[in-house]
Amino acid sequence: PIDHIDRALKIDDVRFSYLPGKEILHGVTIDVKKGQMVALVGPTGSGKTTVMNLLNRFYDVDSGSITIDGTDLREFDLAQLRHTVGIVLQDPQLFTGTIADNIRFGDPEAGMDRVIDAAKQANIHDFIESLPEGYETKVSDEQNIFSAGQKQLMSIARTILTDPRLLILDEATSNVDTVTEAKIQAAMDNVIQGRTSFVIAHRLKTILNADRIVVLQHGRIIEQGSHQEL
Ligand code: ATP
Repeated sequence: PIDHIDRALKIDDVRFSYLPGKEILHGVTIDVKKGQMVALVGPTGSGKTTVMNLLNRFYDVDSGSITIDGTDLREFDLAQLRHTVGIVLQDPQLFTGTIADNIRFGDPEAGMDRVIDAAKQANIHDFIESLPEGYETKVSDEQNIFSAGQKQLMSIARTILTDPRLLILDEATSNVDTVTEAKIQAAMDNVIQGRTSFVIAHRLKTILNADRIVVLQHGRIIEQGSHQEL
């Protein structure tokens, strides 16, 4: 139906509990239209990470639905979903392999030009180039050479490389120095630019830049609107 055409992500009356009898989300509805950037905010324990877990399909909703362009999340196979939706996590996993392989994880066929372009947009290129073996440096979860902030930049580079239509970002809360913080913010701006985005927001600047701010409290949306409206 017409209703779905300009709608990128729709979370519709979603209820969810991890444990029977202890509902965490009590009918959450969030509508992200194409080209919009929507910020989800709320106090600790309000359910933000739970919304993220559902979007990642780590769990299924109890009732209600989540759709992308009108297609239920459950109808996507996981590979297709990973190509449609770019997810930037707070603490992304590194895989055993070179830095280049880690960046092109979403598209192993990607050539070095695309890897470097993604790294540049994610503000991590200069750091990689400063390593003796550059993009060929071997990394793994055990052999982690990245700071928390640099890991986020790696996650952003990975996402930029796959050029997804829809972005879901979990902004890091981890303590990073102000220089890395500025790099993350600029990289976030680069990745969000021109894409439909849904961001679990912790930074004031992200919230101010959002087309709409959605406020979650105790598993319910209590307010939404632009920064001026709220
Ligand atoms: P924060 O800002 O601190 O990350 P949040 O808004 O992301 O908080 P959630 O992590 O979604 O909040 O937690 C919402 C509620 O769900 C909390 O009451 C939490 O205890 C509960 N919860 C989270 N994960 C689980 C789980 N795996 N099993 C059971 N309960 C959980």
